[in-house]
Amino acid sequence: MRAAVVRQKPDGYADVVEKTLRPIKPNEAKVKMEYCGVCHTDLHVAAGDYGNKAGTTLGHEGIGVVTEIGADVQSLKVGDRVSIAWFFEGCGHCEYCVSGNETFCPEVKNAGYSVDGGMAEEAIVTADYAVKLPEGLDPVEASSITCAGVTTYKAIKVSGIKPGQWLVVYGTGGLGNLAIQYAKNVFNARVIAVDVSDEKLASAKKVGADLLLNSANADPAKTIQELVGGAHAAVVCAVAASAFDNAIDCLRPMGKMVAVALPNAKMEVSIPRTVFDGIEIIGSLVGTRQDLAEAFQFGADGKVKPIVATRKLDDINDIIDEMKAGKIEGRMVIDFTK
Ligand SMILES: [Zn+2]
Ligand SMILES: [Zn+2]
Repeated sequence: MRAAVVRQKPDGYADVVEKTLRPIKPNEAKVKMEYCGVCHTDLHVAAGDYGNKAGTTLGHEGIGVVTEIGADVQSLKVGDRVSIAWFFEGCGHCEYCVSGNETFCPEVKNAGYSVDGGMAEEAIVTADYAVKLPEGLDPVEASSITCAGVTTYKAIKVSGIKPGQWLVVYGTGGLGNLAIQYAKNVFNARVIAVDVSDEKLASAKKVGADLLLNSANADPAKTIQELVGGAHAAVVCAVAASAFDNAIDCLRPMGKMVAVALPNAKMEVSIPRTVFDGIEIIGSLVGTRQDLAEAFQFGADGKVKPIVATRKLDDINDIIDEMKAGKIEGRMVIDFTK
C-alpha cells in the first residue's frame, strides 16, 4: 500500500512510498483510509522539528473504514467508520488517563509522529482509541474536525463560556473559523473575531461572529473594554505572541484566557492585574476521545462546517508548498477513495 512518509533526511517534504502493513495485534484494527487532512503539524514532523521521524507515515486527520479487527476487540466491528487523531493512545492507567485528561498522559502516542498515521491507503489503530463517526457526518469534513475541530471545541469548553457571554477569538484562520462556529452554534456565546486580515474577518462574519476587529489598525483589547466592558473569555488561535498579551488585556475581571496556538515565545503578564482581577490563564491541548465524539456530533448536526477541499496523495508536496505560502483556505484533504 502507498503511504506519505517523512524523508530519510527530513526536509519538510514527504516521500510517497510502498509500505507493507504489519499484522494487527489482538487489541488493534486495520483501517482502509478514505481521507486524511494535511495539517501544519505534519509540516513540522516532516521537517524534523520535533525530532527525526524518518520513515514514519504522516497524518493525524485520518478517516477510514475498519476492514479487520483483532481477536480481543469489542469496541469496533468491520465496516465501522473511524478516525485517526493526533491523540492516538494513552496508557489507560495513569492519573491523567483515569481522570478524563488522557491527552496529558506521559506515555501518550501521537499518530503521524510517534506511530504511523493516516496518510496512507491503510492504517492500524488501537481499537479502543479510534473514535467512531456518527451517522450523517461527511467524512471529508470529519477529517478536519478530528484535529482543528476538536481542538477548538475543547478550548471553548475549557474557557467555561456561558450562553450570552462575550468570547473573543484571536486569529480567525483554519482553527479560529471553527472556534467561532462552536462558540456561536454550540455554546451560544457572543463572539468577537480578531485578526490582521480583512479577508479572514470577512469569513468570520460569514460563520456568525458578532463583532470584527482588525488588530492591524487598532488595539483590540482597548476596543473590547470600551464596547462590552471586557470579554468573559478569550481563545487565542493566532501565532503572534502579541495576541496572547492582548487577549489577557481584553478580559473583564475573572476572565479566562485560553492558549491554543504555539508560538515559541513568552507572555507578558501583569501580576497585580492577575491578582486584582482574578484573571485565569490556561493552555488547552487537542481533545480526549469523548471531546472528539461530541465535536463530531455537532458536525453531524450541521452546527459546524469546516472548509475543506480534496486532493490526490501524489499532490502532497504541492500541498505542503501551498500551505507554506499561506495559499490555502481551510483544509486540504487527501482523498484515498479514487
Ligand atoms: Zn492537525
Ligand atoms: Zn496515561
